Amino acid sequence: MDTGKKMLESAQDIIIKTANRLGFREDMVKRLLEPNAIHEVNFSVGNKIYKGFRIQHNNNLGPYKGGIRFHQNVSREEVQALATLMTIKCAVAGLPYGGGKGGVVVEPKGFSESELEGLSRAYVRAIAPFIGQDFDVPAPDVNTNPKIMAWMVDEYVKNVKTQSSNVRSDKKQLNKLRATFTGKPISIGGSLGRTEATGRGGVIVLQSLISKLHNNVIPNSFRDLLSKNQMLKQVQHDKQLTVAVQGYGNVGYYFAKLAYEEGFKIVAVSDSKGAVLVNDGLNPDTTLNCKKEKGTVAGCYCRGSVCDIRFGRTISSESLLELPVDILVPAALENVINETNMKKIQAKIIVEMANGPVTEEAYEYLTEKGVIIVPDVLANSGGVSVSYLEWYQNMRNERWSENEVNEKLKIMMEKAFSAIWEKASGHKRLDLKRAAFEVAIERIVKKWQSHV
Ligand code: NAD
Repeated sequence: MDTGKKMLESAQDIIIKTANRLGFREDMVKRLLEPNAIHEVNFSVGNKIYKGFRIQHNNNLGPYKGGIRFHQNVSREEVQALATLMTIKCAVAGLPYGGGKGGVVVEPKGFSESELEGLSRAYVRAIAPFIGQDFDVPAPDVNTNPKIMAWMVDEYVKNVKTQSSNVRSDKKQLNKLRATFTGKPISIGGSLGRTEATGRGGVIVLQSLISKLHNNVIPNSFRDLLSKNQMLKQVQHDKQLTVAVQGYGNVGYYFAKLAYEEGFKIVAVSDSKGAVLVNDGLNPDTTLNCKKEKGTVAGCYCRGSVCDIRFGRTISSESLLELPVDILVPAALENVINETNMKKIQAKIIVEMANGPVTEEAYEYLTEKGVIIVPDVLANSGGVSVSYLEWYQNMRNERWSENEVNEKLKIMMEKAFSAIWEKASGHKRLDLKRAAFEVAIERIVKKWQSHV
């Protein structure tokens, strides 16, 4: 089975199980599975024809929200799975948004800047009738970025102005139209704090979790399990907690940097070319500078050609996942913790910063063992939360300082975590993923019922 189909099946499977557990009617479960609309578009750039999608899964809680990816493996099923998960993620984060996702089947590597601009503008012309600041709000995803959002929003605004002679062209109106896309450059209405928001949100959630453990706010049913894995002892004796981060891109680097600033000891990081282990703890900024120089984090902290255990040691990316750390942060790829390595995982907490880094089997196995796994729909929702803050600023013609954005993000993430912790506390085991899906689905269905 191809990856898109598999992703869709697994997203739907967990929704079915959750909705059944909550006792929802069959028609409601069906509505949670089927997207409201699937837009498949074919468009030309020069003499080439491309296929693109915009899938609007559910808008019970507000406008559809979700990124646009440019990738050769984009398929209807993959976009539908991602749109479905956006519905859950926005509901978990407590945002007034539903879920959507877009994509174009293309291998953009090797494209010139003008080819990329042509592709971005043509895709937006094709999906313009289906999006809008009050209806469907796209953002960047794999292989798309703020620059691409700038082309897209510019094309969108032009399109709206051509379609309707009533559109005023004052600043306020322009800002509202620009709210149709988030993840924009700051100069055209992007929000301060967006770049680091996903990593920052993950650290806020981790701190909220640690604070519950530290203060012993733990339901009795899983106190024994947590005591067995020594986690409580570490946290409650104020031991400096060790962290390993897989992936040193936007999410991994900012997670490591902000966790370091909050007093965690970052002992290992990796990228696609390898990993480095520094038992005494590394400085994420020094590591980033070294990565820029060498092209990889592997080999950083070595002296000349000597990689001494006292300073640092190059290790494989796979072995980073198996280190005896307190906290493991997969922030690169999906399915990296799976049937083949789950028994070797020694971390006591896993923060899923990438999308879907722990497979279902591994999740079950590790949760049974007492490992606390913070699910992706909560852990990496800081990005979409600040996207919401960007949208909100544009809609109200406001501009907030970075501090204001960070403070609001903190409140939002802590609130999202509390609801899920509370829900999980009613269960027999500490399963934050199950609790997150329950919270999300209950919020969506409740809104539905209020419409009926
Ligand atoms: P990115 O492209 O900036 O960074 C990815 C990093 O992973 C790079 O450092 C790359 O070298 C590394 N990597 C690739 N293969 C690896 C391997 N085999 N072992 C170790 N490292 C490897 O991407 P990003 O924006 O940081 O996103 C990372 C993950 O987080 C993705 O799953 C993404 O979907 C998810 N995510 C990102 C955001 C966001 O706001 N950027 C939001 C939510 C979820």
